[in-house]
Amino acid sequence: MNLEPLWNFLSITLPKPSTQTVLNPTTMVNITATLSALITANHILHYHNVLDSMGHISVRNPNNNSTFFIALQLGPAVVSGPQDIGEYLVVDGSPVNGTKGGYAERYIHSEILKAYPDVNAVVHSHSEDVLPYTVLGTVGVEPVYHMAGFLGASVPNFDIETIYTPTDPRDMLVNTPRLGAALASTFGTNTSQPTSPLHSTVLQRGHGFVTTGTSIEQVVDYAYFATSNARVQTNALLLTGAVGGAVQYLSQMERSDCRNMNAWIVFKPWGQWVWEVERSGLYVNELGTPPEARGDA
Ligand SMILES: [Zn+2]
Repeated sequence: MNLEPLWNFLSITLPKPSTQTVLNPTTMVNITATLSALITANHILHYHNVLDSMGHISVRNPNNNSTFFIALQLGPAVVSGPQDIGEYLVVDGSPVNGTKGGYAERYIHSEILKAYPDVNAVVHSHSEDVLPYTVLGTVGVEPVYHMAGFLGASVPNFDIETIYTPTDPRDMLVNTPRLGAALASTFGTNTSQPTSPLHSTVLQRGHGFVTTGTSIEQVVDYAYFATSNARVQTNALLLTGAVGGAVQYLSQMERSDCRNMNAWIVFKPWGQWVWEVERSGLYVNELGTPPEARGDA
């Protein structure tokens, strides 16, 4: 396969702000593998209705932490090759290396990646399973079962109305660095590890949710199980209305220990999800099968 166009498209030695880390050539990560995983992650999230024609997933450049990759203005299902992916500066979401245009809401990704150096991947979704919890005001998302321990002690609900200036359009989009920074701050400060967010996941009132991870595999896992958990929670709450009782959510210790369990088992769902989308007949990944996930992602 001739990768010259890809390397021209994805130059990785740009001058960047002083906080950048550019690896030396001997420790460079195979960028093709990263982009292959990003393309397949788009397909997985679409296949499982985490993303529809909207929503997106980003990954920090593993060879230069001051830029990130995310699909251009395309639906996740049709992202197929490096020509469909843009590269942007973490500092302000501006395009680099020949990228033109892109998602209006890429500032969700740039501001979270800027605020939390330990975050390497971000998903923004409009999942209909999660959306009711963004507007109820009476009950929020809580982890119901063991695959959702990553939701942690609480899942904040970001209300963009509190951030708007009088002249801002009320289109609910996080389409400026200022709005992205406000959303990023909702993830909170982890006092024991300030480079990580306090919360893995944040709801957006009347819009959707955002979840964060240390890798593409982990953030896909979190996005999938955030929507799955919402479906289970909804069914459990509806059943309490029919038969009484109350929903028992995971305890705080269960949330923490299940989160650790999820971290080492992430390779298993990822492997199956890759297998599924490659055989679905719906998607094209010109860069081939992504590498296997690590269990400690
Ligand atoms: Zn959105």
